[in-house]
Amino acid sequence: EIKKVNKNYFNSYSSFGIHRDMISDKVRTDAYKQAISENPSLLRNAVVMDVGCGTGILSLFAAKAGASRVISVEASDKMAAVASQIAKDNDLLRNGVFSEGSQQNGVIEVVQGMVEEIDNATNQIPSQSVDVLFSEWMGYCLLYESMLTSVLYARDKWLKPGGAILPDTATMFVAGFGKGATSIPFWENVYGFNMSSIGREVVEDAARVPIIDVVNSCDIVTTTQALQAFDLVTMQPKQMDFTAEVELEPKSNTLDEVTWCYGFVVWFETGFTERFCREKPVVLSTSPYDPSTHWSQTILTFREPVPMTSNKLSAAGGKDCPPVKMIQSRISVVRGSQHRSIDISVELTGIGCDG
Ligand code: SAH
Repeated sequence: EIKKVNKNYFNSYSSFGIHRDMISDKVRTDAYKQAISENPSLLRNAVVMDVGCGTGILSLFAAKAGASRVISVEASDKMAAVASQIAKDNDLLRNGVFSEGSQQNGVIEVVQGMVEEIDNATNQIPSQSVDVLFSEWMGYCLLYESMLTSVLYARDKWLKPGGAILPDTATMFVAGFGKGATSIPFWENVYGFNMSSIGREVVEDAARVPIIDVVNSCDIVTTTQALQAFDLVTMQPKQMDFTAEVELEPKSNTLDEVTWCYGFVVWFETGFTERFCREKPVVLSTSPYDPSTHWSQTILTFREPVPMTSNKLSAAGGKDCPPVKMIQSRISVVRGSQHRSIDISVELTGIGCDG
């Protein structure tokens, strides 16, 4: 079963379209490029490993940044071959494989295989010999695809004690969204006809399966809270399963009327922090408040919307509305019953009322 899921997974990365989409995501690719290219004291003469190199784009940045050896690991045999060809075409492939003093006009070595399965003896990668390990492993809602476990595996096996991992932090965030982020308004008026029954059905379906889509920041109706923060240097795979308590208050610019919260939107940031990126720390954000990326946001819809109103309004005697000051909820994320999936559950534990 796991073999089959992995085969499908790596097959999905064998089509060039997906690599084009990732590379074209400027927010994503520029963040990595900056972190790798603009931190010369980290990269110069470093032995680096690129976990899941795809086309090899990040390895090429590292070679240009002066790394002494770039080990580019890729499980998809097609992409590994392509990455090799591209490194060669750009005069960045290491020739006289591994042998000391051989003619070398490049530093990149592409190793085909799952990072969990490559043989360090054949590939001459001694344990704890890597100075800088980087990877673009993030999935939808950060953890979908669970490629992070592979990065942690590589960290434990090859990274030198005190070595750098890029990115080195990852944080998930949550906020409540309003009606505007649902398809309800669209179906309310279709060429003058009321099709809101479709809108209701769409919302019911969305309460079962999360939707990946861009949420406009103006449709966020609550404060934002960090859901979970990971330190890539120290974290263990089991931390990918977690439960967090969430308390969200109405956003201040929604104070004058009742706002209905239709669900939660989840997004993430990864940090290339000053811990390793001293010259140029970088944040890669997939927040609705920042320019959108190919990850969009993850939309978790409630079965029923929750009314929220402000202190101000309830103080002013807004009688018709329950004076809700916050939504309290328990969100848990666990690696799924299906390999590489994740299961997210949202439990509304309370709405903080006056009195
Ligand atoms: N680094 C590239 C590609 C990122 S996509 C870029 O930034 O554009 C992730 C890549 O990692 C895919 O090509 C996928 O096939 C590869 N990958 C995922 N898990 C892997 C593993 N366990 N071992 C080796 N490669 C893996």
